Amino acid sequence: MKKNDVVELTIDGTTSDGAGVGHIGGAAVFVPGSAVGDRCEVRIVKVERSFFRGKLLRLIIPSPDRREESCPAAGKCGGCVFQHLTYEAELRQKWERVRDCLARIGGLPVTPEPVQPSPEVRHYRNKVILPVGERDGRPVIGFYAPRSHRIVDIRGCEIQNPGDDALARALLRYMEESGVRPYDERSGKGMVRHLFIRRLRSGEVCAMPVVRSGRLPETERLCELLLEAEPGLRSILLNRNDRRDNVILGERCELLWGREYLEDTLCGLRFRVSPRSFYQINTPQCERLYAKVREYAALTGRETVCDLYCGIGTIGLSLAHEAGRLVGVEVVPEAVRDAKENAARNGIKNARFFCGGAEDFAEVFEGKLDVCIVDPPRKGCDGRLLDTIARMEPERLVYVSCDPATLARDLKILSGKGFAVREVTPFDMFPRSAHVECVALLVKGENG
Ligand code: SAH
Repeated sequence: MKKNDVVELTIDGTTSDGAGVGHIGGAAVFVPGSAVGDRCEVRIVKVERSFFRGKLLRLIIPSPDRREESCPAAGKCGGCVFQHLTYEAELRQKWERVRDCLARIGGLPVTPEPVQPSPEVRHYRNKVILPVGERDGRPVIGFYAPRSHRIVDIRGCEIQNPGDDALARALLRYMEESGVRPYDERSGKGMVRHLFIRRLRSGEVCAMPVVRSGRLPETERLCELLLEAEPGLRSILLNRNDRRDNVILGERCELLWGREYLEDTLCGLRFRVSPRSFYQINTPQCERLYAKVREYAALTGRETVCDLYCGIGTIGLSLAHEAGRLVGVEVVPEAVRDAKENAARNGIKNARFFCGGAEDFAEVFEGKLDVCIVDPPRKGCDGRLLDTIARMEPERLVYVSCDPATLARDLKILSGKGFAVREVTPFDMFPRSAHVECVALLVKGENG
C-alpha cells in the first residue's frame, strides 16, 4: 500500500485518541471519524513506520454505533473525536480502553467497573481556551482544525457554554476597533494569542485574554465590551505570555476589572479559584468522582490523609471533616494560596498545604500516613513518589487519573511494592472526547 491508494476496510478497533482502526493484510490503518463496525472506503494519506493513516471517503455499510452529528462544528473542528458515536458506544469504547490498559500495560487481573456517564453530555465544560489568529487580514477566534493550527471560526460548540460566543465576539470587536493584531506564531509578531474563559456553576465568569508583553491600548474599552457581552463577569484579567512554544498560559496575570478569582460551591463547600489554578472542568461529574474517592478512602475521623497534586484543595477539603488531619501538596503557588484560603473560609482547621513537587512530599510530611490520595497530571506519578508512598505504607491509596495508560503503568509498579489493586471506576468527565478519567483503590499488603 502507498500514499493515495484507495482501499476498502472494516473498522475493528480504536486508537487511544479515538480514531477507528481497520486492517489490511495485517497492517493497521488509522481512520479518524470512523466507528467500529463501519465498512468504508478510505484513502491512504500517510505511510508511517508501522501503520497507515487513512481518510474516510465513503461509508459502504455504516456501523450501528453511529448517530447523526449534532454539533454545527462537527467535522471542521479537531476537538470532539466521538461526535459521530451514540453515547452508549462512546462509553463502551472508553471502558474497553481502560480494560485494555489495565491488562496490557498493567498486566493486572482487574476488570474495570462500568464507566459512570456524565450527568451532562452537552455544554458541560466550565472552561475554554480559544486561539486567536488572523485570516484575510482580520482577526478570527475559534478552535483548531484537526491536527493543525488553522483556526476555524465556530459558533454553537456543543460542549462549551453557549454564552462563550458573545465574549469571543467582544474580544474580536475590541481588536478591530483598536487595531490590536493577533499574535502570529511564525513571526512572533502581534499581541493577542488566546481567550481564556472560565464559567462556574455559581454563575461567576472570568474572561482572560492571553497577550504578549507590551502596552495594550484602550483596555477600558475592552472591559466595557466584555461586560456588555457577559453580565456574569466577576473578573477580567490579562495573562502575559511571551513564550515561543505551545504553552498557553504565561506566569503573570494582571487584573483589569473585578476580583482576581471566582467563587464556586462544590460538595457543599465554598471554593475560590484563581485563573491559573486547576479546577475540574465538568462540575456535576466532578462531584460524583469525589464521592467515589470518599467511598474508597473510607475515613472514620481519625486518619492522617495526604492529598497529593491537590490543586485548590477540593478533594482533601471535602474529606477533612472525616479525617484526623489533612496534608495537601501542589506545585502551582496560586493554587496553594487558594487551598489555604479555602480551608480558612470553610472553617477547616485540620488541614495544611505545602507548595512543591509531590515527589518531594516526604520532606514536608511527618508521622504515620493512613490514606494517600494522588491526582497527577497525564504523565502520572514520578517514580520517586511511588517509592515514597510504598515506604510510608498507607492502609489505602486512592489514585485519581486522567490517563489510563500511565495509571496502568503506576498500578503495576505499586502492585510490585506491596499494594493490591482492589477496584477501578472510570468516569466520563469529557463526553465526545477520547479522554477518560479513573479512580482506583489500592490497599496495603493484600494479594489479588
Ligand atoms: N486534585 C485536584 C487537582 C488535580 S489536577 C482537583 O481535583 O482539582 C493535577 C494538579 O497537579 C494540578 O493542580 C497541577 O498544578 C499539579 N501538579 C502538576 N505537577 C505536580 C507535581 N510534580 N507536584 C505537585 N503538583 C503537581
